Amino acid sequence: MSRREELAAGLADVEERIGTACVAAGRARDDVTLIVVTKTYPASDVALLAELGVRDVGENRHPEAGRKAEELAELAPGGPRPRWHFVGALQTNKTGPVARYADVVQSVDRPKLVHSLAASADRAERKLSCLIQVDFGDDPHRSGVSPDDAEALAAEVAGQSALRLAGVMTVAPLDVDPRPVFARLRELSDAVRAAHPQATWISAGMSADLEAAIAEGATHLRVGSAVLGERRPPG
Ligand SMILES: *Cc1c(COP(=O)(O)O)cnc(C)c1O
Repeated sequence: MSRREELAAGLADVEERIGTACVAAGRARDDVTLIVVTKTYPASDVALLAELGVRDVGENRHPEAGRKAEELAELAPGGPRPRWHFVGALQTNKTGPVARYADVVQSVDRPKLVHSLAASADRAERKLSCLIQVDFGDDPHRSGVSPDDAEALAAEVAGQSALRLAGVMTVAPLDVDPRPVFARLRELSDAVRAAHPQATWISAGMSADLEAAIAEGATHLRVGSAVLGERRPPG
């Protein structure tokens, strides 16, 4: 099988899962956007995915993400440019370059990062969409703002003219039933939307738990290995 065929097969599998989960939840397929997380995979895969109709890709590390965006532009000049979602932990000293290539930053989790992103987007003359990453676990090493502080952080983003508050995001903690976690994210989304009606995105669900996320109202799925194959451990 060529790589293109492998990716097409992975996409078809995931599409079928999404379709089945949408029917079960009584939701329209169009309510859910698939973001393919291409971290650790080469720009050539992103080019193939774009040819196969993928319009949203996710990356979790700088500078890997920036390099890939540049390589893609060289591989497929004039080809469709996917929307780049930055989904990983982000240091404030990296916001300058990230604001130049990312369209969405899904991992906004502290006020200092909000201000740094706003200044960087302003300098790049770009408007950056942001999601508030919420952590429902109890491990302090995980990324994400606590649910109690999420609404205040959302207000902070909404107050920046260079940023657009798009919604909320979570990564379910390992080894717990993800569905109640996604239900809590949805409740939090309701609260955020009451103050910021434009913040409609709910980014939840990965390869292992996309059905639970769709059942609980996710509007955006971030799927990596189910499309691209298992990642090699970093090393
Ligand atoms: C890697 C990653 C994903 C995709 O994970 P898979 O299990 O490969 O689908 C989703 N979200 C974030 C934040 C990630 O880092």
